[in-house]
Amino acid sequence: MGENATSSAEAAPAVAELDPPNRTLMGPGPSDVHPRVLRAMSTPLVGHLDPSFVELMDEVQDLLRYTFRTDNEWTIPVSGTGSAAMEAAFGNLVEPGDTVLVPSNGYFGDRMASMARRAGGDVVTVDAPWGEPLDPADVESALAAHDPDVFGFVHAETSTGVLQPDVPVLTEAAHDHDAFVVADTVTSLGGVELRVDDWNVDVAYAGPQKCLSCPPGASPLTLSDEAMAKVLDRETDPRSWYLDLSLLEGYWGDERAYHHTAPITNVYALREALRLVAEEGIEARWERHERLASALKAGVEAMGLAMNAPDAYWLPSLNAVCVPEGVDDGAICDAVLEGYDLEIAGGLGDLAGEIFRIGCMGHAARPENVVLTVTALGDALAEAGADVDTDAGVRAVRESLR
Ligand SMILES: *Cc1c(COP(=O)(O)O)cnc(C)c1O
Repeated sequence: MGENATSSAEAAPAVAELDPPNRTLMGPGPSDVHPRVLRAMSTPLVGHLDPSFVELMDEVQDLLRYTFRTDNEWTIPVSGTGSAAMEAAFGNLVEPGDTVLVPSNGYFGDRMASMARRAGGDVVTVDAPWGEPLDPADVESALAAHDPDVFGFVHAETSTGVLQPDVPVLTEAAHDHDAFVVADTVTSLGGVELRVDDWNVDVAYAGPQKCLSCPPGASPLTLSDEAMAKVLDRETDPRSWYLDLSLLEGYWGDERAYHHTAPITNVYALREALRLVAEEGIEARWERHERLASALKAGVEAMGLAMNAPDAYWLPSLNAVCVPEGVDDGAICDAVLEGYDLEIAGGLGDLAGEIFRIGCMGHAARPENVVLTVTALGDALAEAGADVDTDAGVRAVRESLR
């Protein structure tokens, strides 16, 4: 500490009233929160076992089933961010000694590997370059070579802007090899087509702050009866007490007994965010994301930029746009944040410096946000000396939305 630093133990710190900047969130998450969700978060608390809350828990579970397109009984919000739901999935399903097959084509496949390893699993990978999806033929040969107990894949890879196509083909191949399928649907749930039951996904988890436009804190998770049977048949307890589904069952199942205090306010928020999904209709919501992201794509292309993913695996909720030669992506992101109060992000891992990551998620997927994003990105790039035509980009957005 410097000479003049005061000790907080002695004097009360003088901290100004909360006044964060008013950003438009078009990055990889969190996304703009709907005002109705913010209002729900300022309603008074009840106890986590209050009869009114117990009723509300049922509503949240029904709304989650609707949004996941599943009848799975084991459908709950996990206390914590998307990574908590992810760890609940891997930490419960994977037993020590299980073989777990995960993808190596993005940041979140790597996180699956870390979690599966911590759960005591032996991790093997199916490979594809960052920026490309898994090839079903490669998944088939990895399944044949390793005979895994669990196969995890990322439906919407937020680090690369890749949508994994052919999900039913992957799940069928995995089931032919008696592997359970875990899908990371953090950036797809409520944003792009996802059908847990029709596609025979055994376990799916998500996060509230991506396409559901809800603050992080309570994260969707669903398991089939068969997957839950594996969890309940474990020989050893999962390493996490907090995320042990056999214990959480006591609270979210019929008993409704205390395990840990539910994050009441986050559950209120999730309920309202999911009500918005139900009001809009899940398929209409997928269609809106595609329509608004198509306008964004038309805009950046007309401006003179290229999308990193071809249409076959373009991810509407997270658009990977190639950074033009000689441009520093970090400086552009800083410029749009500074000049337009707009958040977008650069690339990660193998795609660091190569792509901008522009989200089009939930409540943020609106015409005014798309126009702002194309304008701000074009202006910042032109300012940095890149050869872009911002006006042509904005015209293309308007035509696309007409
Ligand atoms: C954001 C994200 C996560 C992790 O969620 P957190 O809320 O940051 O813990 C996991 N997987 C994918 C694909 C994500 O985009």
